[in-house]
Amino acid sequence: METRKRHRQKEDYRLRTHLIHGNYDSRNWDYDHHVVPPVSQSTAFRLTSLERGARGFEKFASAEEYASGHDPIYIYDRLDEPTRGMLEDNLAYAEGGEIAITYATGMAAVSAALGSTLAQGQDVLAHEILYGCTFSQMTNWLPRFGIKPRFANFFKTGLLAREITPSTRVLYFETPINPTLELVDIAAVRAVADEVNTGRAPENRLLVMVDNTFATPQCQRPLGLGADVVVESLTKAIGGFGTDMGGVVVTSSDWYHQLMLYRKDFGGVLSSRAAWNVLVYGLPTLATRMINMQKTAHRVGDFLCKHPKVAFVSYPGLDCFPQKALAHRQMVSPEGKFAPGSMLYIVLKGEPGKPSKAEKLVNYLAEHAYSITLAVSLGQIKTLIEHPFSMTHSALPDEQKRAFGMHPEGIRLSVGLEDWHDIIRDLELALERV
Ligand SMILES: *Cc1c(COP(=O)(O)O)cnc(C)c1O
Repeated sequence: METRKRHRQKEDYRLRTHLIHGNYDSRNWDYDHHVVPPVSQSTAFRLTSLERGARGFEKFASAEEYASGHDPIYIYDRLDEPTRGMLEDNLAYAEGGEIAITYATGMAAVSAALGSTLAQGQDVLAHEILYGCTFSQMTNWLPRFGIKPRFANFFKTGLLAREITPSTRVLYFETPINPTLELVDIAAVRAVADEVNTGRAPENRLLVMVDNTFATPQCQRPLGLGADVVVESLTKAIGGFGTDMGGVVVTSSDWYHQLMLYRKDFGGVLSSRAAWNVLVYGLPTLATRMINMQKTAHRVGDFLCKHPKVAFVSYPGLDCFPQKALAHRQMVSPEGKFAPGSMLYIVLKGEPGKPSKAEKLVNYLAEHAYSITLAVSLGQIKTLIEHPFSMTHSALPDEQKRAFGMHPEGIRLSVGLEDWHDIIRDLELALERV
């Protein structure tokens, strides 16, 4: 395929521009003459000779082959496929990693990240609050493979070292945390891992794994802050339009072989259709969407902070955010601007012994608000509201929820792209009713 001569290197353009134009002279496919990349849908690929087929099998999942820059030999969709490959090149670029491997869902990506790095007899030490299915995967499934999940408080990084045993291989957490929006200090966890790693062989190094779903690479790039592995759902803000499920693992090429093999054998491949939607709609609009949603989130946060019926608002962009200094250090756009994201957690002033006002508010909004939708998921162009205590986090015992800062009066708001006046007005009218 011919390569265009540009007067500026692709790397000289900002991420927002890069995500729109992508790697459009991709080695995955010659589509240099398309304005929009084509979607490929072929479960098997014509091999033209046995020799080519043999070479394809031999080179599959080889990190050296990947790094060589040779055009890939495609064999079968579950092994590798061009549309997915194009998306992966762009996701790796967005997160600043060497490789990105996509999976059918965010959970398939979490499974691949843990399954590829952990072995029987080892343990994963995770922050005590996790996305529900991640917690379930660790506690219900990993033990069947002889992998032990352990939990600790990752806010107290000073105390983390003593929770790490010689069998601990992975430190796992999300930041910002769902739903309270508290932050874990990625660089501080890295420092703890470095300390432990001075006494460890390279193949047994402690790995820092971060779920970056809430922030997206537009608001936080964990690899640059010291994480070894990023996992995230493409279903949420990266996909952005709420039409497709997907997940990705972004890391160094050391893990290419394991991650590709895991996907081939466990089979959680991202469909080329879903990959194409994220490649053509999701990633190119990510920066613009996040920047706009963030502006609105800030305005909504300011409005709610001052409202007499609101006890407090947790949003990393607000001056009253308890971890403000960390937020400014950690949540930054690729251009270095403060990027606190589009998620808010709001706690209403309840009355002891009375039914939850948050539930009343959410129900009122679900019935009467045009700009706010009651639904799980997040990061979409539509503003979504939910009540974590009775919905997404209902499986946790009440006492545990309270201990982790989840409150019956708490509401999670994922701000979308609607006109901010409308979102605030709908909230204002609903607050009058509770
Ligand atoms: C949604 C979500 C996941 C799982 O992603 P799916 O695409 O739904 O499988 C993992 N982590 C976090 C933080 C999430 O919000």
